[in-house]
Amino acid sequence: AIQVEDLHKRFGTVEVLKGVSLTARPGDVVAVIGGSGSGKSTMLRCINLLETPSAGRISIKGEAYEMRSVRGEMEPANRKQVQRIRAHLGMVFQSFNLWPHRTVLGNVTEVPIHVLGVKRAEAEARAIAVLERVGLGDKRDAWPAQLSGGQQQRCAIARVLAVEPTAMLFDEPTSALDPELVNEVLSVIRDLASEKRTMILVTHEMAFARDVATHVIFLRDGRIEEEGPPEQIFGAPRSPHLQQFIRSVA
Ligand code: ATP
Ligand code: MG
Repeated sequence: AIQVEDLHKRFGTVEVLKGVSLTARPGDVVAVIGGSGSGKSTMLRCINLLETPSAGRISIKGEAYEMRSVRGEMEPANRKQVQRIRAHLGMVFQSFNLWPHRTVLGNVTEVPIHVLGVKRAEAEARAIAVLERVGLGDKRDAWPAQLSGGQQQRCAIARVLAVEPTAMLFDEPTSALDPELVNEVLSVIRDLASEKRTMILVTHEMAFARDVATHVIFLRDGRIEEEGPPEQIFGAPRSPHLQQFIRSVA
């Protein structure tokens, strides 16, 4: 399980996360919803240490990561820990973030070969399998710029899958896509969810969240305002703010 406890994040004097806790057990799909600026991306970025939390605890598979306070920020004890957390928690960004000067295959094998020390032949065999899995088996020698947005995002998902992460973190994976390309990416994520992969998914796609999530978190102003199973959050929301949010995105 992934456990995040009492996560805080300040930028200067502004506290953007005010104590967020969540647990994702194996197979859980935790959907995170909330208005613009509520702290969704900051939360994901703190969980995999793209941002250093101001306070809080993270444990992955029962292993707690020691953080020490440096200039008021909580830093992991060392660089190896950061790499391990990132390998455990593969992140898919809104803007794909593929390496432009690596082919599709090169994007998928980069971390296994250069960070995890997997032999090239093995990394490539595994990359080809995950590329097939996301429907890009015939694109392995293409450059990112030669792919559609949907294909780029599926390549980014393959890159995360190749690391065999404990959980996948998605930050609005479809919001940069042309509408006709959204479904090909959602359907890959839906398949991964049905394979019981653990995910934390920030999304504006409410119908999708309702469909695939096992647990939904509504963030508002850096706090969890309400959380629960999708039937409750979308069918019988209690918080007036959540009720209003759901009306506004419907
Ligand atoms: P959106 O739905 O628009 O993506 P979000 O819920 O992901 O919004 P965040 O990007 O987490 O929101 O931002 C939360 C708040 O933190 C915002 O007020 C934002 O301006 C602020 N913020 C985020 N990153 C930084 C930063 N590096 N420095 C200062 N403030 C930041
Ligand atoms: Mg965001």
